[in-house]
Amino acid sequence: MAAVDPDLALRQAAVARARELTQIYDDLVPLSRLREGFSLDGDSVSFGSFQKGIHRSRLQRGAAALTVTTSFNDPYADAFDEQGRLFTYAYRSGAIDQADNRALRAAFELQTPLVYFRALAPSQYLVVAPMFVTADDPAARTVVLEPGLPVQDMQPGGLISGPDVRAYATREARHRLHQQRFKLDVMRAYRHRCAICTLRERELIQAAHIVADAEPEGIAAVVNGLALCAIHHLAFDRNLLGIDPEGVVHIASRLLREIDGPMLRTGLQGFHGTRIARPRRQEDRPDAARLQTRFDRFVIAAA
Ligand SMILES: [Zn+2]
Repeated sequence: MAAVDPDLALRQAAVARARELTQIYDDLVPLSRLREGFSLDGDSVSFGSFQKGIHRSRLQRGAAALTVTTSFNDPYADAFDEQGRLFTYAYRSGAIDQADNRALRAAFELQTPLVYFRALAPSQYLVVAPMFVTADDPAARTVVLEPGLPVQDMQPGGLISGPDVRAYATREARHRLHQQRFKLDVMRAYRHRCAICTLRERELIQAAHIVADAEPEGIAAVVNGLALCAIHHLAFDRNLLGIDPEGVVHIASRLLREIDGPMLRTGLQGFHGTRIARPRRQEDRPDAARLQTRFDRFVIAAA
């Protein structure tokens, strides 16, 4: 069994705050909130500088790192290994036993939880916590990171969940990572505008899947995405609105026959027969085959 980490209470507070922010911000946490740190017994504690990759707090008594952060400018250095299906993290350059690397490797020896900050855009982070260093390869200067369970794995006994539980948690974290990247890519491609009505209020614009996420064709890639405002997104998901492979908007005939106020008239009926705004770059545009698959369903549902 691993030795008991003297910083366990600090880690529990860090993980709890990180998870709370993840919920508040629906997985993509702004740097400004992370910079506020977290509190423990009335003290304010930093999550790190977000400049440096491996962080150990001055308040810690133990040797192990508290947080690890990936760099947005160097996205390949600390990648998700798609082949091995594992999160990996590289040692800092320089000597193997320099302070940061010692802190990272101590986290492996202690089997103690960390908070993992993954930069997905400038000043926006996906947070995975608790994260454990479950393998250390000094020759490759790399560690493997696996998410653990927020309660069971954060007791004085250290990491207790089995490999199957951690593999499941890794798949879940990877799914979150892909979905957040999808959102960011779709928003960039559509310049934060609804493809149907061109509304540009960021709080109301969402990344919609053309073919649903749960289906094999429903990949989290920009060609399977559309930026839609909340009302057009829901109308699309509920088959009240369809988009054919040419990009022409169809409103369900039931809605076309209804009589109601301006939201129905202007916001829905008014777009029947119009064309969606497509991204400027060819490679960002919605894939016609996926639009067709989705449109076939709309036709059946709206009949
Ligand atoms: Zn819209």
